[in-house]
Formats: sequence, C-alpha cells, structure tokens
Amino acid sequence: MKKEPGTTKEPKDQLTGSCLCGAVSFSIVGDPVAQLLCFCSDCRRISGADAYAAYVVPRPALTLKTGTPTSYTVTAASGRVNKRNFCGTCGSRLWADLEMGLASVSGTALSDPEIFKPTMVHCESDAPTWARIPEQMESLPPTS
Ligand SMILES: [Zn+2]
Ligand SMILES: [Zn+2]
Repeated sequence: MKKEPGTTKEPKDQLTGSCLCGAVSFSIVGDPVAQLLCFCSDCRRISGADAYAAYVVPRPALTLKTGTPTSYTVTAASGRVNKRNFCGTCGSRLWADLEMGLASVSGTALSDPEIFKPTMVHCESDAPTWARIPEQMESLPPTS
C-alpha cells in the first residue's frame, strides 16, 4: 500500500519516538545516515523479531526527553561494543549507542511508523529460513 508523500509526515528536523508505556521518549533532529534491517543474532534476540529496524543517526542528533532507559552493553560479533537501550518497564527497544558515535534508533519506536524506510539489509547470512528478507535491497555483509 502506497501513501501520498508528504501527507502524514512530521517536520523532518524534529522526529519523536517513545516506548510502548510512554515512560521513555526522545527526539531526533536531521537526517538518518542509514536505514537498514539487521538480521544478526543479537538484533533478532533483543528485538523478538526476524530483524531489527535500524534508523541510524549521529548520536548528537538524538535527545532523551523523558525517562531513563535501561541498558545492556554487549560486544557484537564484529568486535564493536553496542550499548542497547530499552524501557525497563515495558521492554520496548529504543536505540543502541554504537562505538563509532552513532545511535541505531529502533524504527519501530518512532512516533510515525512511515518515517522508517529501509534501503539495505545487514547480516542476511545470519537470518533464519523463516525471516522475511526484502529482495530488492542492497545486502551488506556482517563485517561492515
Ligand atoms: Zn516503556
Ligand atoms: Zn544486528
């Protein structure tokens, strides 16, 4: 189903997002540096889904508005340290702080679900057979 562009969009310089219970909310300014679906085992396990909807922004673009996320820091298979933030009350994924100064915001936490528009898949080789992998997207190898 296709929507008319520009009809439901919030202003691009101020996105908002929150967890399910609303205790933790955040805002984002500016454009994302990447939008991808990650099928790595860490992302799948913590998301409870076949892929994590990664809306990646420079970390300074993200501002915590309310609440305090709970976090879990893990070293990914790539060797990079990811601090994964989620709501300690309702369990919703919020964002991951990545070593290289980026925040991988959960596209599913954004207030407008149409903002997230993935263009790439990551770690496709880690996906289980039942995963829904879009075929028309660029596929990044696990090491990138
Ligand atoms: Zn919550
Ligand atoms: Zn991943």
